[in-house]
Amino acid sequence: MDFSLLVETFEQMEQTSSRLALTDHLVQLFKKTPVDLIDKITYLIQGKLYPDYEGIEMGLAERMALRAIANSSGKNLSKIEAIYRETGDIGDTAGKAMTSKGQETLFSESMTVERVYNTFDKIARTTGPGSQDTKLRYVSSLLNDASPREGRYIMKFVMGSLRLGIADYTVLDALALAFTGDKANRQILENAYNVSSDLGAVAKLLASKGLEAVKSLQITLFKPIRPMLAERVINAGEAMERMEGKAAVEYKLDGERVQIHKAHDRVELFSRRLEKITNHYPDVTKASTSIKAKEAILEGEVVAVNQQTGEYLPFQELMHRRRKHGVKEAVESYPVVINLFDILYLDGKGKIDLSYQDRRKLLTRVLKNGTDQMINIVPQMVATKVEEIEQFMASAIENGCEGVMIKHLSSTYRAGARGYAWVKLKREYQNELADTLDLVIVGALHGRGRRVGKYGALLLASYDHNEDMFRSVSKVGTGFTDEHLEQFYKELEKHIIHQRHARVDTGMEMDVWFEPKMVIEVIASEITLSPSHTAAKNAIREGYGLALRFPKFTGRIRDDKEPEDATTVEEVIAMYKRQLKVRPETRTETDV
Ligand code: ATP
Repeated sequence: MDFSLLVETFEQMEQTSSRLALTDHLVQLFKKTPVDLIDKITYLIQGKLYPDYEGIEMGLAERMALRAIANSSGKNLSKIEAIYRETGDIGDTAGKAMTSKGQETLFSESMTVERVYNTFDKIARTTGPGSQDTKLRYVSSLLNDASPREGRYIMKFVMGSLRLGIADYTVLDALALAFTGDKANRQILENAYNVSSDLGAVAKLLASKGLEAVKSLQITLFKPIRPMLAERVINAGEAMERMEGKAAVEYKLDGERVQIHKAHDRVELFSRRLEKITNHYPDVTKASTSIKAKEAILEGEVVAVNQQTGEYLPFQELMHRRRKHGVKEAVESYPVVINLFDILYLDGKGKIDLSYQDRRKLLTRVLKNGTDQMINIVPQMVATKVEEIEQFMASAIENGCEGVMIKHLSSTYRAGARGYAWVKLKREYQNELADTLDLVIVGALHGRGRRVGKYGALLLASYDHNEDMFRSVSKVGTGFTDEHLEQFYKELEKHIIHQRHARVDTGMEMDVWFEPKMVIEVIASEITLSPSHTAAKNAIREGYGLALRFPKFTGRIRDDKEPEDATTVEEVIAMYKRQLKVRPETRTETDV
């Protein structure tokens, strides 16, 4: 397959401002893709070579990339650096430098997707001493035969600056349309994706074996399962109503969610966003080998503990564990335990279709056989009365938890879904009206006065799962320290795009637009109707969306969340309605 076909599609996608058109470009691309390449194309359009959980990166240093462009374009390095300063993007630098060399028409025929992918793969797999030089040679070999337009995308890909912002759900829609002609089949694809987290594999199965094969895709060890998520409730009474009078109540620990995959002596850990984090927790990994099961997939919350008292510590303590160097010291200085709360697979069989009750029994049995003392089962009780939930909640909070999780006894494990089979009741709901929201940064205004050279306010969006869009819900300018402002300015630079992203919907005008990537936590005093924000537009009142009043950044960057894991529009609506119940005097208009 000609690489130029991919380049053309990328160029068209960069220009489009509508999500439907984005999907349509993908459908056309998939239709033209040979079956044996479909998985690779699926990864490439998302700027990846493999599913996220493989954690494989190209790892080419910026100065090496500039040298590769210099070599291939025949220009000296200082000239290339000057172009880079002007464009701010290595891909654009390559495109520009190569154009003036007149490389347009020379060799582009020989550039195939297969060749580009295989070379990228080699670049990613080259490690160790001297690897930067080897990587440089591989990149140069591609650039030498590439047209400027191809060179531009090759370098964008290598440097991770391809900003197409194509999310999983858009790809799933496009696959359903391209191979079954019916978008409604996306749900079947989504189910398969939820248990494999591998879009490429789902695409390949669909293209080669059809929808029936996709339906029967099974859980596989070392391919993470997308986590089941919880809705909020405001008090124990609401929880009990949702649970129809009987429920399991568990401690909600404030740590990091971890999925453990174990086959004999091999153990891998995956984060909530399904990245491999085995290296962050060598102690948990080692302890997990003691679990008495040949093969298992278990879920739990890793929490930092005070070694002296055994008390749970807040999640911030775990940050010290996210490092590449000095891991051994961090393990000693910041000890953790893991509290398991679910079992998804045991000795060759998926368990997600069992009820909560049966999974809990199975989990208890597996752990009873004896494990390392750092592995526990999460404290739990079965409640039939509201007061029982309240008492358990009080004890959870006393023990340093955020609150409790309340779970329907007969519910299966619904991978990748947020629903009322699990609900969360947090301490802060009892004092504050509003819970925190995790929102995606989609735009910014330049700062003034003290904030010149930084951003003055960020435009935040909630996620509309049905339409796969980000709809604005707030501007936020408070809660930032000077360090945050610096950090945001630097981090967001990587995501700047020249126009509003096709998946972003807002009535606000911004100075800068971003590819939806970064998720931050905010708290607000209330939710009000808004004529300018588009979250939940027309859902409560015709012509109005919902907006946050007095929003404030909490200081927490949710880098454990994908943009599609942000607070959804439905959740914002639910929070708005709940607030009306609790505080009927809530204002309904805003000038935000
Ligand atoms: P939050 O921001 O409230 O942590 P979230 O969006 O990350 O929420 P939710 O599904 O809404 O995820 O809340 C559940 C989270 O709480 C889980 O992802 C997990 O990390 C954590 N947790 C702690 N204890 C438990 C438990 N006993 N059962 C399930 N999840 C638990």
